[in-house]
Amino acid sequence: MKNILVIEDEAALAEALKYTLGKEGYDVDIVLDGAEGLERFRTYGADLVLLDLMLPGMDGLEVCRRIRQDSAVPILMLTAKDSDTDEVVGLELGADDYVTKPFNTRTLVTRIRALLRRVEERREEDGRRQGTLRCGPLVMDLERHEVSLDGRPVRLTPTEYGLLLAFMRRPGRALTREFLLAQVWEDFYGSPKTLDVHIRHLRKKIEEDPSNPKLITTIRGAGFRLEPPEETSR
Ligand code: CA
Repeated sequence: MKNILVIEDEAALAEALKYTLGKEGYDVDIVLDGAEGLERFRTYGADLVLLDLMLPGMDGLEVCRRIRQDSAVPILMLTAKDSDTDEVVGLELGADDYVTKPFNTRTLVTRIRALLRRVEERREEDGRRQGTLRCGPLVMDLERHEVSLDGRPVRLTPTEYGLLLAFMRRPGRALTREFLLAQVWEDFYGSPKTLDVHIRHLRKKIEEDPSNPKLITTIRGAGFRLEPPEETSR
């Protein structure tokens, strides 16, 4: 049974989530406070973290940032605001997806399922294709879920890993936004901006100069491409 850690200070909403997700077959733990939620995660872990943005004390962004310091657990942020700003900041800090309040319960359940399935499929697929993918300075160890750049480990979120995997399997090919969205987010409801944020985040981790990317380049009007080794400077 998959465990979901809900970090949400609105007790009524947290209880409703526990009830709904419980009926869907998930084991749900609720924590009403950010710092306590982080502590709880560090002690017990979880298969997925449902994280409210606006929390008293340590807010959701800070909790997200700290979880990402040493974990690739899928994180789904709950945001109350209408503006894209906080959602995008959440993605910058390593959240995989977000849902804006007020949300439809079915939508939330669908997004949780999609996120967990992505992690599961990635594991299964990696199992089937055991081995190592290489492209220039980048190496992906599919068995160990490890990525390295020039021999140094790079820590990626599940979403970034999925994106990089899509590129590493098709070096030199321009991948359209639609293709990448379909590869990484099977059920995609979010803003297309999400893809750009994750690409930018991935570049920050693997590019020498993220503002002048040499590995994952933007192909105007087409999408993005992982440059094959002979075309990269390294
Ligand atoms: Ca809140």
